Amino acid sequence: MKDLTFTISGGGIAGLTTAIALKRIGIKAKIVEAAPEFKPVGAGITLAPNAIKAFQHLGIKQEIEEASNLISGLEICDFKGKTITQQPSEFDESTAIHAIHRGNLHEVLLSHLKDHSIVLGKRTTGFNKKADQIELTFDDGSTHLTDLLIASDGIHSPIRKQLLPDSELRYAGYTCWRGISANNFGIEKATESWGHGKRFGIVPLPDNQIYWFACLNAPVNDPQMKKYGVHELRQVFEDFHTPIPDLIGSTPDSQILWNDIYDLKPIRNFAFGDVVLIGDAAHATTPNMGQGACQAIEDAVILAECLKRSSTAAQAFQFFEQHRKKRAQSIVNRSWKMGKMAQMDNRFLSTLRNGLMRAIPASVLKSQLKSIYDIDFTL
Ligand SMILES: Cc1cc2nc3c(=O)[nH]c(=O)nc-3n(C[C@H](O)[C@H](O)[C@H](O)COP(=O)(O)OP(=O)(O)OC[C@H]3O[C@@H](n4cnc5c(N)ncnc54)[C@H](O)[C@@H]3O)c2cc1C
Repeated sequence: MKDLTFTISGGGIAGLTTAIALKRIGIKAKIVEAAPEFKPVGAGITLAPNAIKAFQHLGIKQEIEEASNLISGLEICDFKGKTITQQPSEFDESTAIHAIHRGNLHEVLLSHLKDHSIVLGKRTTGFNKKADQIELTFDDGSTHLTDLLIASDGIHSPIRKQLLPDSELRYAGYTCWRGISANNFGIEKATESWGHGKRFGIVPLPDNQIYWFACLNAPVNDPQMKKYGVHELRQVFEDFHTPIPDLIGSTPDSQILWNDIYDLKPIRNFAFGDVVLIGDAAHATTPNMGQGACQAIEDAVILAECLKRSSTAAQAFQFFEQHRKKRAQSIVNRSWKMGKMAQMDNRFLSTLRNGLMRAIPASVLKSQLKSIYDIDFTL
């Protein structure tokens, strides 16, 4: 298999981590990336223990940890700041979350691919089968021949759309802003504060920075939401506990990103002969469980393991699908439901929800987390 050419379309978290995982088994993949330069989203990201375990498998755990902040507590509270539930108190490696700036995560990943061919400014539009090979087509009219294609080109993947024209993106019913600001508030723990039809999350990053996100129920692609900046967001979250309004107010408008939240309705297949879909291209999820990138990182390790253990790539891709589809799609579905619960706007129901959640024993929460965080990479 080492004589075959591998091309990865999309140099995001899934694509770069996969290139590192393939390198470890002696496969040097070419990466084609649509963006003209690597300029990752200016936001933070949380990496759960399953992702850290994957990085350990790839031998880059320490670097990732050094660039991250180990979150010393994760609490869900109501909008007044009263605890609804919190991460089990015995805080250990099996439940520890690392928070990292996306730019720093990209830097660490790229530092392991210095000897790789990464072609920027190449937007894949689709592919054609040519005898035993695959011809990738790009929006500049150029083409590239490869034996095997790994599509990690994100939620809007043109390769997935070509393979599965009926695959469907689902709007979650809420829109989201993300911001980075200085931690002038002495914030040490990560929190998510649930109001009625809106919620606000705070995640401390290294270098005294805070990554925050704000979700609000809204119609899809609402022109009103598009116009929201610091001033409007501060007003929306004015009734939330301290320091939320001031934290929003202290964020430069230039440091705020806006996206409607979508996921990918579970699809039939990830593997299609010599082509495989990974990361968001295969199983984009709502961000409610903080698992989208973690699953993409798991994909990378499992894909390399499957390739190591198979005689043909097509067999490995099939094996990958068998290992990944059920787990990744169950997270997509759980996260979807969790979002519905977190974004409840009916006051009576959301008060009831808070009460019910407070009654869940810590042992139950811990076992729920374990089912997500425990992953065995030995196939
Ligand atoms: C608000 C929000 C918060 C989130 N928070 C978390 C979190 O805390 N923890 C977590 O684990 N996950 C989180 N996620 C999910 C996470 O961001 C994604 O799951 C992850 O980025 C997926 O990585 P990917 O490489 O598959 O896709 P992407 O990150 O979308 O990368 C795709 C790459 O492909 C490139 N590309 C796109 N189209 C083409 C093309 N046609 N040709 C070539 N290249 C192309 C893009 O430029 C990009 O570089 C969050 C998501 C959102 C929206």
